[in-house]
Amino acid sequence: MSRVQNCVVFEPLSLANSWTLESYRQIGGYQVWESILRDKPPAEKLIEELKASGLRGRGGAGFPTGTKWSFMLPQRDKPGQKYVVCNSDESEPGTCHDRDILRFNPHSLIEGMAIGGYVMGATVGYNYIRGEFLAEPVPRFEGALKEAYAAGLLGKNVQGSGVDFDLHCFVGAGAYICGEETALLESLEGKQGKPRFKPPFPANFGLYGRPTTINNTQSYASVPTILRKGAAWFAGLGVPNAGGTVIFSVSGHVNRPGNYELPLGIPFRELLEDVCGGVLGGRKLKAVIPGGSSVPVVPAANIIEATMDYDGLKKAGSALGSAAVIVMDETTCMVSVLERLSRFYRAESCGQCTPCREGTGWMNRIVRKIMAGQGQKSDLDLLVDVANRIEGHTICALGDAAAWPVQSFVKHFRHEFEYMIEHGGRSIVNDPAQRAA
Ligand code: SF4
Repeated sequence: MSRVQNCVVFEPLSLANSWTLESYRQIGGYQVWESILRDKPPAEKLIEELKASGLRGRGGAGFPTGTKWSFMLPQRDKPGQKYVVCNSDESEPGTCHDRDILRFNPHSLIEGMAIGGYVMGATVGYNYIRGEFLAEPVPRFEGALKEAYAAGLLGKNVQGSGVDFDLHCFVGAGAYICGEETALLESLEGKQGKPRFKPPFPANFGLYGRPTTINNTQSYASVPTILRKGAAWFAGLGVPNAGGTVIFSVSGHVNRPGNYELPLGIPFRELLEDVCGGVLGGRKLKAVIPGGSSVPVVPAANIIEATMDYDGLKKAGSALGSAAVIVMDETTCMVSVLERLSRFYRAESCGQCTPCREGTGWMNRIVRKIMAGQGQKSDLDLLVDVANRIEGHTICALGDAAAWPVQSFVKHFRHEFEYMIEHGGRSIVNDPAQRAA
């Protein structure tokens, strides 16, 4: 679902067959790409426009897109292959909006990548799509790619401009860690998807050792509209330090879960009550994970007045992450949620770093021990201690992502863990008197 008004990537959703070239053309699709092919503007000018728009990477880290692209400029006009890569390996628990871009507006991604190729001097691009999307929306994206080639929008010497840009669709085998950009590059090269030690960063040593820029699906898909409508227009949709819109994937205990493209900075209360119809069954809100499972959980009291942007959620003690908003009501057992999350990270650790490989399993075993009624008070301190020793001590961010839920769940809901330890594995939510308290 989406509010189509003031949408950036969901703009064509109001049109029939929004994924077709014909519909994309109706909203001005490929105008920017064709004007670039015709006028060959300086790459620096396009980067300045992106910087002014305030677009930040929508994959989770929130790094400014224009700045990231500028890292490629020293290499742009030097000989040798450069690449642009799109990260459509959308796997962060709770996150399901990039698949809707591939489903409903694939041409915006193709145009955004072509523009990126021109700006960064890359004549080849890859869209890395997670393996689980094989049945759909991969065929939808491949269909759009075929349409773009047939219309003469991609390929060699596009429209007689002297500009080359070939774009390929690559389907992964289904591994969360391949969403980490250097693991994704390894996977693209046909190796096991394991993160590389950094530096060097991909802008210097990327795909096949060549300069490469990797952006998230929504980031690339936002670029054509930003350049068509102007940086000021886009920046004005959001708030300072967070330009534009973002697609919130809202799941959990709400009456109307869904993907909503909304301005950054929308108050959480408005998102919950007006957009999503409030907490399911009129129950009390307990907690929210506001940016995918890798960001800290926030108790209801800390998030209800927060704004949904980078600074607002930082102030609330968490992060915007992938904008996947997981809502939990008063019936939720926080111990069992943490067990599920820690099991996920345990399964997805690639095993290269000892703290992550051993620590993710250790944390999950402690939580399971508590749930089995065999926990001791000292287990809670041990749990946090293991998390603290993982955080900041690994090659990639999965280690931090595994540690932060543990730290925040115990910090905010320690009494639920203690209750379970004291009551032989019984959850506090099964005790109405405690729940009300
Ligand atoms: Fe692999 Fe975990 Fe180390 Fe990342 S932090 S490289 S997932 S072991």
